[in-house]
Amino acid sequence: MADKDHLQRAQLGLGDMDVEDFRAAAHRVADQMADYLAGLERHRVVPDIEPGFVRSQMSAAPPDEPEALDAILGDYARLIEPNITHWQHPGYMAYFCSTATGPGILGEWLAAGLNSNVMFWKNAPASTEVEELVVSWLRQMLGLPESFDGMLTDTASISSLLSIVAARHRVPGLDAREKGLSGRPETGRLRMYLSTEAHSSLEKAAIVAGIGREGARRIPCDEHFAIVPEALEDAIREDRAAGWTPFCVVAMVGTTSSTGIDSCSRIAEICEREKIWMHVDAAYAGTAALLPEKRPLFEGWERADSIVLNPHKWMFTPFDASLLLFRDAEVYRDALSLVPEYLRVKETSGVHNFHEYGIQLGRRFRALKLWIMIRYFGAEGFRRRIRDFCRQAQELGTKVAAEPGWRVMAPHPFSTLCIRHEPEGLGPEECDAHNERVMEAVNATGRYFLSHTKLDGRYVIRVTLGNPRAQDHHVDGVWALLKECGSAQAAQG
Ligand code: PLP
Repeated sequence: MADKDHLQRAQLGLGDMDVEDFRAAAHRVADQMADYLAGLERHRVVPDIEPGFVRSQMSAAPPDEPEALDAILGDYARLIEPNITHWQHPGYMAYFCSTATGPGILGEWLAAGLNSNVMFWKNAPASTEVEELVVSWLRQMLGLPESFDGMLTDTASISSLLSIVAARHRVPGLDAREKGLSGRPETGRLRMYLSTEAHSSLEKAAIVAGIGREGARRIPCDEHFAIVPEALEDAIREDRAAGWTPFCVVAMVGTTSSTGIDSCSRIAEICEREKIWMHVDAAYAGTAALLPEKRPLFEGWERADSIVLNPHKWMFTPFDASLLLFRDAEVYRDALSLVPEYLRVKETSGVHNFHEYGIQLGRRFRALKLWIMIRYFGAEGFRRRIRDFCRQAQELGTKVAAEPGWRVMAPHPFSTLCIRHEPEGLGPEECDAHNERVMEAVNATGRYFLSHTKLDGRYVIRVTLGNPRAQDHHVDGVWALLKECGSAQAAQG
């Protein structure tokens, strides 16, 4: 029951929504969401609308007076739900899957209710400690040593940016934190190294960290889209001779285009010898390290200074959640901590005041959904599902390879396949255009959503699995549709 004061304030148009109204609405929203998840396949994966359609259906001016929740939720159901691209749909096989599973969604709701801002322990005691615990649980599940500490961020882009800033901070005599990088002819220019297949977020980090795109040197890959370590060694030698200061190497475990894997042990050897920071971007594929049988692919990553892995990619965690692991937390804190008087706290020993290790002061309570998910599924539940996605991808790869005219274009140790249809008589460019048409034809059905990339300059279609809602018949379905569209497009010439 609302008290008298609350009622008076409500009559004056003050205060929050009545808590009993909130309860009723929350039940209704829970039903709406369960109905959505139960009926996902009623929707096209990508809505058939033109840019601007959704806004054209909504009031351009903000409502001045309160509107009834009925009307708001009605518009949500009519205009928003059907007009999103359905990442939850089992036919969403584009980019890297990002699926929100039930227990994770519940965690998001509870976190929203608590609205805990995980800046420092005093302001967020349980949330801070659950984040510490979840980071430790994930580290253990991945088979990484206790020497790794870490935290959660929103995205791999930010996790990598923080690591590059930390790597920069470790360059002797540079002190970019205090002195900045501009107008200092006495310091050599910094150089980081990454393969030609590494993700654009790393180059963006170089831009933001003052390294610049010229300071991010791309190293060629071999036929499996893995960095060539000898080319990396040559580049570092050449750069030192030319006056650059090499300070960071990024190892990719699971490139975005093809899931190529750099040799972490070779890169670790080079970084240790050259005294350079080693950062591993395993944003998607890092999840596979949950499986002991996949760990050989990661050999040497335990020697890295920092590792990023996104639970919101292949660990069916609601967006957003990125795990950043590092071996020397103090470098991050030294590089980034600024504690003005108004943020000074007494409780600093034995707990993390997380804002000191990153850029943002305000931080979401992302650990709650992971704490719930890890308990709900159990580590073995994660392993079973990841193993099953890998099985689905292997089986699909075998079928594609056995089909005349179709080719698998890259190794596929995880759950992503790069494939290409090469009907007889088409030259390479014609074949590129053909594959683009095949993918567009598949997507136009609304039953599946695939994306593409270029490997060695050739257009390939990517199929990414990893949605716990996708059953074998969905994988069979996309393959049947690809073959059908391939044949139809080839017949049309
Ligand atoms: N690194 C890799 C290998 C990726 O595939 C991606 C995104 O797909 C990213 C980094 C960027 O991830 P985020 O969107 O979390 O910044």
